[in-house]
Amino acid sequence: MPHNQTFVLNVGRIFTGMGNDIPEPHSIVIENGKIKNIDLKSRITDSFKTITKLDYPDCTALPGLVDGHTHMMAPGDGTPGDDIVKDADENLLIRATHNAKLFLNAGVTTARENGAKNNVGFALQKAIRLGVTDGPDMVVCGRPISITGGHMGYCGSEADGLDEIKKETRKLIKQGADFIKIMATGGSTITSDPLKPSYTSEEMQLIVEEAHRVDKLTAAHCSSIKGIENALEAGVDMIIHCIFEDETGMYNYREDLAETLVNAQAWVNPTLHIKIAGIEDIKKRGYKKGGLSRLEILQLDNATRSLENSLETVNRFSKIGVKMMAGSDSPWGAYPPGEFVKEILALNRAGLSIYESLLTGTKHAAHSIGKGHVSGILNVGRNADVLIVKGNPLINLSDLSNVKQVYKKGIPQYKKSKGYSGIHTEIK
Ligand SMILES: [Zn+2]
Repeated sequence: MPHNQTFVLNVGRIFTGMGNDIPEPHSIVIENGKIKNIDLKSRITDSFKTITKLDYPDCTALPGLVDGHTHMMAPGDGTPGDDIVKDADENLLIRATHNAKLFLNAGVTTARENGAKNNVGFALQKAIRLGVTDGPDMVVCGRPISITGGHMGYCGSEADGLDEIKKETRKLIKQGADFIKIMATGGSTITSDPLKPSYTSEEMQLIVEEAHRVDKLTAAHCSSIKGIENALEAGVDMIIHCIFEDETGMYNYREDLAETLVNAQAWVNPTLHIKIAGIEDIKKRGYKKGGLSRLEILQLDNATRSLENSLETVNRFSKIGVKMMAGSDSPWGAYPPGEFVKEILALNRAGLSIYESLLTGTKHAAHSIGKGHVSGILNVGRNADVLIVKGNPLINLSDLSNVKQVYKKGIPQYKKSKGYSGIHTEIK
């Protein structure tokens, strides 16, 4: 179906993300890749009699999902980042291209890429924009900015001291970065420590100033308290992970810091499911070889405790009004590509209502990455990014993974069964 045609999607029910949904059959009129009209089916059929109609009677239409945190170059099979980047850029780009298709087929029509090696992120974004390959509309940082030896410094943007930091930030923007990803603490990278801060608040403030000067957003990886404090002081727009652990690894829910998050109107990207996926991965390894080593038992223990703490943090955040959005961090760690829905489910498990959870992966994610004006809700004039799922996720959230069809800017995407063919199917 050429995307410049007008056509109508008749669906059993709708989630617009605007809080005005009536649980009755609706029609969505799409023209030139945009939503032209949305109304109750009974009201719309007459005026659009002559055009193609596609019926999804037992299905729900939602805005295309927005994953606010991806790493398309990773395999999602537990391979550590330090090993992933040993691969040549060409191989990383091919994998990223493949993964991007899996995300799209699972309903993700917009994604924010949080860091790849060298120019892999930029190249992927360009290839998708040019239509050379299929994938979500990408918002990219290119490479995360990190101290020498810091988390993901191996991607190629290490910078120390104010002069280098300013230069590197400007370089990323010159290359086309849509936002600046800052490593405020260490992480899984061997030469870094997740519990220790890396940049000072003064250094991060410089990055924020440089980014905001040209209307770019900022996001900081914070896997311990001091990093969160520094990032908030610097005025960073989004706190990623937001782990309330001190420098000794002790969990300490800091009420004052949570209040600061609310007052600063900063977004939080909790990344819950990557922890669940990590736990499942350790258990699977143990099952395969008939038991876990002492080290693995310790890892499992730590991972389980860390997940429980994060679930509690998110639960408390939701009660005091911290702005939260969904970003999978997939396919980083052992979180396979194409399973973004699991992050939305994890936020629900942490205590967000089904409706709020759906917003985190649509409207709120779009808003938090600067795409709120084009995606994240179903509304007249927006991109026709529409996810059709069988069932009703408003009652049973996991129905989100029963993908029936995905429209990106009005174009139906081939739904993969086994492997990806890359062919757009004609829907009749
Ligand atoms: Zn990440």
